[in-house]
Amino acid sequence: MVKLKTNKDIAVMGEGGKILAAVLDKLSAAVRPGTTTEEIDMLARELLSSYGAKPSFLGYNGFPAALCVSVNEEVVHGVPSDRVLQQGDVVKLDLGAYYKGFHTDSARTVLIGGINDAKKQKLINVTSRALELGTEAAQPGNTLGDVGHAIERYVKSEGFDVVRDLVGHGIGKNVHEEPEVLNYGKAGEGMRLEPGMVIAIEPMVVEGTWKIADGPDGFSFITKDKKLAAHFEHTVAITERGPVILTQ
Ligand code: MG
Ligand code: MG
Repeated sequence: MVKLKTNKDIAVMGEGGKILAAVLDKLSAAVRPGTTTEEIDMLARELLSSYGAKPSFLGYNGFPAALCVSVNEEVVHGVPSDRVLQQGDVVKLDLGAYYKGFHTDSARTVLIGGINDAKKQKLINVTSRALELGTEAAQPGNTLGDVGHAIERYVKSEGFDVVRDLVGHGIGKNVHEEPEVLNYGKAGEGMRLEPGMVIAIEPMVVEGTWKIADGPDGFSFITKDKKLAAHFEHTVAITERGPVILTQ
């Protein structure tokens, strides 16, 4: 069952979402050659704590860190480690913040400028734009199929594809709530969006096959063909006046 949020709940989630956005801004700036992914996780923990928020993912289903850091062919759920980031890496940062009883969830992809940037940058730009288009489609009265369709159609028109086996989700007092928010679909199909729904829309876009496999760290998912993946995510409230991004 979808748990609808009151305007007050959404306002609180907006406060948490602003904190999350500020933290992700700082983490993105810390993604540099020579930095380890563990160092970025430590920074995420410190920053969340400095804002009075808690990490949503630490301990969630046994996840050992606050931040998911997924590099290159890793799509999502990468575990921070002593891996040293390098020029040319495509780095996905995915963070959840728990604040005043509610979770918000957001992700970004950062390119460490280096070699063969043009195609990597295109993949990243297309994923970011796909999130914008999916969000614009999240109007009350539209359906989840409209959201997925907007994302899938645009991504494919740019020569990329969307991961099928991982999806966005409702969010609120729990990180993952109903409904599932697919990054593909048919216009007009699926659950109708209504004011009070809060969903995490999170296109995962790949250069090659959309098929994924388990990564070596036990938590991450990687592309089966080891080609690059990008990921952007916002927590979005459906209101009478349209979709409102809470994590920016
Ligand atoms: Mg996330
Ligand atoms: Mg999410």
